[in-house]
Amino acid sequence: MRCSEVENAIETFLDGTLAPHIREEVERHLDSCAGCRQTLERRRRLTALLQSVHVPPVPGAFADAVMGRARRVQASRSPVGGVWLRTLFMRVAAAVVLAAGVGAGAFMGVNGQRVPAPTDVGASETLAGAYNLDTLSEAPEGSVPQAYLVLASRGSK
Ligand SMILES: [Zn+2]
Repeated sequence: MRCSEVENAIETFLDGTLAPHIREEVERHLDSCAGCRQTLERRRRLTALLQSVHVPPVPGAFADAVMGRARRVQASRSPVGGVWLRTLFMRVAAAVVLAAGVGAGAFMGVNGQRVPAPTDVGASETLAGAYNLDTLSEAPEGSVPQAYLVLASRGSK
């Protein structure tokens, strides 16, 4: 078995769903390949880290509140409403993807060093302007959107 084949099988190897005969091949390869053992250990640590992250509960009416606010803002800003709402959705989706990338980059880049807490609120205003995320910049200090803007602005430096 080649390293690339082992790498492709690592997720199913870790979650225990790999077919037994392939699992044996992967284990044989791991016995003789330090590089793949290192890759396996990194994946194990990443999985453990992701499982240890506390995800705050989302209030039941959160989605309705966000959509209600978006509709109010939409009504006050744009005569062609649907376009603005889709644009907002795309920006929020892009922000979530960027935040995930920044988070993964921070994890991969610092190798266990502590990531500084998001306290630099001033930088988020620049980022919000640059990416036209002014709706997010109205979020109260300490909120998830505000923390995202701070983290994203640090990741872009
Ligand atoms: Zn290998």
